Amino acid sequence: MSDKVSHLKLTRFKRTRHIIQFPRTHLLLIGIISFGLCSFVIAKFSDDPADDRFTTESVLITLPEVPIPVTTPTNASAVTATIPKAIEPQWRHINTKVRPGDNLALIFKRHGLSPKDVHLVSTSKPLGQRLRNIFPGHQLALEVDDGNRLMKLSYATGPLDELAYTRQGNTFVGEQITTEPERMLSYKHGTIDHSLFVASQRAGLPDSLTMRLAQIFQWDVDFVLDIRPGDAFYVIYEELYLADEFIGHGRIIAAEFVNQGELFRAVEYSNHNGDRDYFAPSGDSMRKAFLRAPVEFSRISSNFNLRRVHPLWKTQRPHRGIDYAAPSGTPILAAGDGKVVKASRTTPNGNYVVVRHGEQFVTKYLHLSKFGRGIKSGTKVKQGQVIGYVGATGWATGPHLHYEFLVNGVHQNPRTVSLPNAAPIAKAEMARFKTHTQQFSLLLDNYKSQVTVALAQ
Ligand SMILES: [Zn+2]
Repeated sequence: MSDKVSHLKLTRFKRTRHIIQFPRTHLLLIGIISFGLCSFVIAKFSDDPADDRFTTESVLITLPEVPIPVTTPTNASAVTATIPKAIEPQWRHINTKVRPGDNLALIFKRHGLSPKDVHLVSTSKPLGQRLRNIFPGHQLALEVDDGNRLMKLSYATGPLDELAYTRQGNTFVGEQITTEPERMLSYKHGTIDHSLFVASQRAGLPDSLTMRLAQIFQWDVDFVLDIRPGDAFYVIYEELYLADEFIGHGRIIAAEFVNQGELFRAVEYSNHNGDRDYFAPSGDSMRKAFLRAPVEFSRISSNFNLRRVHPLWKTQRPHRGIDYAAPSGTPILAAGDGKVVKASRTTPNGNYVVVRHGEQFVTKYLHLSKFGRGIKSGTKVKQGQVIGYVGATGWATGPHLHYEFLVNGVHQNPRTVSLPNAAPIAKAEMARFKTHTQQFSLLLDNYKSQVTVALAQ
């Protein structure tokens, strides 16, 4: 039994779309960009043989509509000014893409515009300075009058974000336009035969979300060593649309992972401060004070797919840590918040880092090819910060991270040691948490039961 119900139809959920002042030219520009993006996505999807393979077995699942909390765009700077909306027909329109090494002056020169206009628009307050760093691949749309004067400029940093500048006499008025995409919930289920990545790809879950899924459950499941055939996942995530065009994937809203028969469930919650994180439906954090595996998962997993039958640690000699084989140069992450007490080199250890986390805990990282930026004795580090890179320095037969976890000076197995929890939902916020997340848990239940029914048929 594998991923029969892997290709499920979307259920449509509407969120309010926020459009802050949206002239037609911008829509056009965004249209062009999203068209480009879309064709890329479609091309990529149709390359995937799994798509064809599973379409025939797809099951249409309809789930009830639930209201979804609306996110307000956070970075929209409000600029109030009367900006002429009419597009003058005699203006010349230039659409151009920023090339590597470009700056506004070069682009203006290429299109026969004056350096004076570069100065005017890039010194306009308060958004002009944002044009001093423009990035290759981003889109610029210019409107020029018959006297070759720049009248409007819009710089799109993505399908949802745009800076627009309109001439007002001898200056420009800038505005930031953020479009809130339409969000639709998508559902995916997969059963694992050999690796999470293979199962996810077969189910049509994009790699970026597979990574996210593994990050969410990393404290409950070691995705390098604990995965077994028959493990399964159920994911509800957002797909983003702009004017009915798919523009990308949003966040995972809720997910369940079944590992060796044990069920783990996570729902996303944004607290009253706007901080997002994943919690069990009980309100416990999915996080712990330490990462389970302090190496970038995607890089190890590719190794793991091939070698999972043969555990990577050497059993013929006492081994006080765990070895994660990974390509040389793979980032190594601080397992928890703490302070570097040693970043040094010895013959057996090669380059190594020792981090102290409060009174009780110490973690050690050996055989590094090099240290992370600024990592030396005394450096304070945050959980997930890069402290070094995988290598084969010291007594190592190949590139790997040797990782040790000490509690009160005693070595513990980092895979099985019980880790201190991150803070759960505060009592005062529990009611709000329940109202916001219960519906997602219900959706997940509903989806699971429909998958079960579909598989039984
Ligand atoms: Zn080792």
